[in-house]
Amino acid sequence: LTTADLIEEHRICVCVRKRPLNKKSELSMKDLDVITIPSKDVVMVHEPKQKVDLTRYLENQTFRFDYAFDDSTTNEMVYRFTARPLVETIFERGMATCFAYGQTGSGKTHTMGGDFSGKKQDCSKGIYALAARDVFLMLKKPSYKKLDLQVYAAFFEIYSGKVFDLLNRKAKLRVLEDGKQQVQVVGLQEKEVKCTEDVLKLIEVGNSCRTSGQTSANATASQPRRIPDHSPEEGKMHGKGADTSSADRQTRLEGAEINKSLLALKECIRALGRNKPHTPFRASKLTQVLRDSFIGENSHTCMIATIAPGMTSCETTLNTLRYANRVKEF
Ligand code: ADP
Repeated sequence: LTTADLIEEHRICVCVRKRPLNKKSELSMKDLDVITIPSKDVVMVHEPKQKVDLTRYLENQTFRFDYAFDDSTTNEMVYRFTARPLVETIFERGMATCFAYGQTGSGKTHTMGGDFSGKKQDCSKGIYALAARDVFLMLKKPSYKKLDLQVYAAFFEIYSGKVFDLLNRKAKLRVLEDGKQQVQVVGLQEKEVKCTEDVLKLIEVGNSCRTSGQTSANATASQPRRIPDHSPEEGKMHGKGADTSSADRQTRLEGAEINKSLLALKECIRALGRNKPHTPFRASKLTQVLRDSFIGENSHTCMIATIAPGMTSCETTLNTLRYANRVKEF
């Protein structure tokens, strides 16, 4: 297969999901909803602006994606259009990747992991659980049952450019290319899973080891965070702040590292789109481990960009939408 064939064959589905205004913070602060989803694939941002003569107006910007999910969409619906088709892909011997992208507090954990709003996270309704459910349902079909297939799960974190095994006491791992030029995370623990509950248990174990995203539920229950977690522009904005506490510095370093990975991801997607022979997958750990899911035969990727609806998040939301737009052009 030539690169052109691979690109032809490959499909990256880019979706946007808007979450509702948050009761605790945004609604109580009278934040305004500045996002509308007028049709199933269009997102509009109504950015409040002010002219020199102080008259206010709304600047409307429109973005089109494969799917746009409004704030009334359930996880089950999001799943049906995003990861569900990927379950088919893996049963056709393909590679599938589904990832969430967006600012802290925009709904990544809610989408992938399940509802966090109760006392305890309801993992059964996240994309992880829904996908696991369908994988095990497929395996019950007679044509697969007779093959006696096994399912293994692994869970690792990329943090500060390093890879850690979350199912093996955070062992630090190396990423290498094997003889067949397949990318391998060396020594990554793969645990056999026999049902959805097994998967959920592993997620719980892994989550408790994670360095990133641990404060998700707490952080978002307080103030809408202005501390960015993904775009260089926001990184700069934050850098202007006067707060230099060590936690703050840490957040900034994390932000810089995440920006590096995401820039690398965008570069790879651009290079693939332009049919360049050299794609800079090695530029970051994230792109290295995602490489096979991008260029493999019958590879499918789905990106779910999550956005907060509030006016206070407007700038970040626009950055997320611009980033997602670039990915779509692949
Ligand atoms: P992230 O993982 O991107 O930091 P979270 O998933 O933790 O964000 O979401 C932040 C807050 O918003 C949580 O309290 C979560 O329950 C709530 N939330 C996120 N998405 C939705 C949604 N689609 N519907 C209702 N509440 C949501």
